[in-house]
Amino acid sequence: MQLGDLELHLLVTDHWKADGGLMFGVVPKILWEKQKPADGRNMIDCSCVCLVARVNGRVIVCETGIGNKLSEKRAQQVALREPEDMLHALRRLGIQPNEVDAVVTTHLHWDHAGGLTRRNQQGALELTFPNARHFIQRDEWDFALQPDVRSRPSYVIDDFTPLADGHKAVEFLDGDAEVLPGVQIRHVGGHTPGSQVLILHSGELACAVTGDLVCLTPHLRVPWNMAADLEPLRVFQQKSQLFEEAEKHRWLLVLSHEPDQPAGYLEDGGVWRPEPRLT
Ligand SMILES: [Zn+2]
Repeated sequence: MQLGDLELHLLVTDHWKADGGLMFGVVPKILWEKQKPADGRNMIDCSCVCLVARVNGRVIVCETGIGNKLSEKRAQQVALREPEDMLHALRRLGIQPNEVDAVVTTHLHWDHAGGLTRRNQQGALELTFPNARHFIQRDEWDFALQPDVRSRPSYVIDDFTPLADGHKAVEFLDGDAEVLPGVQIRHVGGHTPGSQVLILHSGELACAVTGDLVCLTPHLRVPWNMAADLEPLRVFQQKSQLFEEAEKHRWLLVLSHEPDQPAGYLEDGGVWRPEPRLT
């Protein structure tokens, strides 16, 4: 779809399942399962939602999904099915990987950063977008290299270290930044130390890619957050601020793992209005 000068495309790269308790933390199951029914293993449907934008002639990829390196064991654990290769999806849009100018992942967890690198046919690791600048918070990078004991399984170093080893593909950010004209990154923290939200602007219009600040539509309630969040109170504060701006200025929001209509608007004090042109 076109949003002012922005050409936006959603790529849903993966369908998988996450534990309901992981996704909703202290929210009672009797409340969340009305909206997100769990299967016999207490797992709920998720996807990985990536946004591709053309802004002033540049191509920006935000979020890269799980990618093609996940171990078979892990893929089974998360019931990963029919992963659509991101490059395949990009080619349908007429975009070659070496034409991507900028890549933003909201954080470096495996389900967001997995697609930054890939294994080629010889089994060697390579960058998925060899000519792109990759914008990552320095806090996130440092934490991902030495995570706390609980966060350790969420980071896979092969996803991101090749960006810095032998390549100069990373640009480290220390907080908020405007990385290209109209392309704003907001450091929100909370879920992980360096979690960030991407906000693309075209005049009065804007589109925000929320990352795991807002995973699924039930997370549009401020106090409904993931058990995995490192700093829940910071999540609530950042969500409140984002929702206030998004509703007031009618920003288009893209939710990170919502399998059913992940892009939309907040209206009338929190009503979700999906954007049918972006599915
Ligand atoms: Zn995630």
